Amino acid sequence: MSELKLCQGPKCHTYKTKDRLKGMKDNKTYQTRRRSSMYYGSGNFCSMNCQIDWFDIYGDRAIDHFGRTTEPKHLTEQNAWIKTYDYNWRNEGNEMSNYRSLNTITKEERPLTREQYRDSNYTLNERG
Ligand SMILES: [Zn+2]
Repeated sequence: MSELKLCQGPKCHTYKTKDRLKGMKDNKTYQTRRRSSMYYGSGNFCSMNCQIDWFDIYGDRAIDHFGRTTEPKHLTEQNAWIKTYDYNWRNEGNEMSNYRSLNTITKEERPLTREQYRDSNYTLNERG
């Protein structure tokens, strides 16, 4: 049996849809959605509504907890690296990739391996 996750939306069970109505014949209740995968909020919410509900209640506290932005950030050569690849690039049977880092200010490009491209912690940007 595949692992089902519960939607984290605090009001999910209050939206009266057929698929939320569960239980025995005369004892049905609207319940929080359970899914094997969800597409919103990094897989935590069944819908954009549920994600927004969560943020309305917990968003302020979450921002304070992880650090509120109090000064404008500046895009500079040091933090302008993004990851990119050619969408239509084809080179069948060849291990070479076209993944690369692109500096959106200097336009400099540096090749990336597929692993580096997929690693969300890998960046050429200076942290700070
Ligand atoms: Zn939900």
